[in-house]
Amino acid sequence: MRLSRYFLPVLKETPREAQIVSHRYMLQAGMIKQSSAGIYSWLPLGFKILRKLENIVHEEQQRAGHLPMLMPTVQPGELWEESGRDNSYGPEMLRITDRHGRKMLYGPTNEELITDIFRSHVTSYKELPLTLYHIQWKFRDEVRPRFGVMRGREFFMKDGYNFDLNKENALHAYNRHLVSYLRTYERMGLKAIPMRADGGPIGGDYTHEFLVLAETGESEVFYDSAVTDLRLGDREVDFRSVEQCQAIFDEWTTPYARTDETHDEAIFADVPKERQSTARGIEVGQIFYFGTKYSETMGALVDDGQGNKVPVHMGSHGIGVSRLLGAIIEASHDDKGIIWPEGVTPYHCGIVNLKQGDAEADAACDSLYDSLTALGLEPLYDDRDERAGTKFGTMDMIGLPWRLTVGPRGLKNGVVELTSRKTGESEELPPEQAVERIAQIYASVR
Ligand code: ATP
Ligand code: MG
Repeated sequence: MRLSRYFLPVLKETPREAQIVSHRYMLQAGMIKQSSAGIYSWLPLGFKILRKLENIVHEEQQRAGHLPMLMPTVQPGELWEESGRDNSYGPEMLRITDRHGRKMLYGPTNEELITDIFRSHVTSYKELPLTLYHIQWKFRDEVRPRFGVMRGREFFMKDGYNFDLNKENALHAYNRHLVSYLRTYERMGLKAIPMRADGGPIGGDYTHEFLVLAETGESEVFYDSAVTDLRLGDREVDFRSVEQCQAIFDEWTTPYARTDETHDEAIFADVPKERQSTARGIEVGQIFYFGTKYSETMGALVDDGQGNKVPVHMGSHGIGVSRLLGAIIEASHDDKGIIWPEGVTPYHCGIVNLKQGDAEADAACDSLYDSLTALGLEPLYDDRDERAGTKFGTMDMIGLPWRLTVGPRGLKNGVVELTSRKTGESEELPPEQAVERIAQIYASVR
């Protein structure tokens, strides 16, 4: 992409409404624009990253054997009357009346809708296990929308639902989700810790939240610092293996890690003193096993093979895809701007032309651009007629992990400069070698 043809409305001034750094940088870098409280338009740069995160979530869900689908944003009120949550969900639900006076709502979550789909089509244990998911916009009329996309009213969420014959199988689905979530966050360059949590309005007592540690997090968390050393790494996981998923679940949930809702001082006291840690955390996902709560009330029954009709065991599992943009920025930035992890960066590298209009510099930039593109990489070329300082400022703010700087002086010696956004370290290399280096870096990014 050439910046001269892009739509990147970078703000010069610091937006006053932003209380935390991710919100400020997302506005400054021209990624989002608020349309009303807690509701945003996603401008091209923000949208590109949102799509990248969405793709990672899709890949990891399907790797775990979960099936993608799409349910609507607007739901019929009757299903929520049937489940009993029409009353219990409260003012967070945006209720709509259609022209015929029918009660509708903008979905805050989809347990009712998916249970209705299931009961309409599945009648036998032979069709189990089944896990369906979608990534769709949700609406929750939050009392205090704030922090930009981190606590929006409209937000983009992956929600998945497992259907199993019994508790044992449903707990395998639970563990499988835990493992696939860990993989998902790792690919995004994030350390998200699964923590014992509280059921909330979805219900159920078997639940973990995934928290990214950050000073601006809304939850207070207590944990054994040993948990922060755990990595999944490139471990091959067979998601069908009950033992493997259970082992990873045990590994990650044995060290003490709880949110303030479930924190227990007495148990925490058993953690060695030097490892007892408290911090703030951002919730980027949550998994639930809630048994037959919905299947019993809504009549989602299957034949168990012995002539009995039994309610299926269910769980639901959510990832806050739009919130993740904010969480990644909170975890990875400096005072100049964002530092995207390589797995989610909107463009693989920036190209800064120090002397736009200089025939040699222009040709060298074009050639770098073409070579990178030919290798399947996406460069962002700042070809604007701007001062070098302005171009560097923009690149630092939008946070691409690598920058190539091209100018007449370097070209005279046959080199361009390759700079890491994270460390600020630069290296002078012949253009072909610089391209090769960048290709190598991304070859190792899953
Ligand atoms: P919170 O406690 O932050 O209000 P929740 O527990 O009500 O969230 P879930 O029902 O678990 O949310 O939804 C799954 C995920 O969706 C959450 O883990 C979070 O990452 C994301 N999410 C929830 N509410 C919002 C929101 N208002 N804006 C952006 N993302 C959200
Ligand atoms: Mg939650």
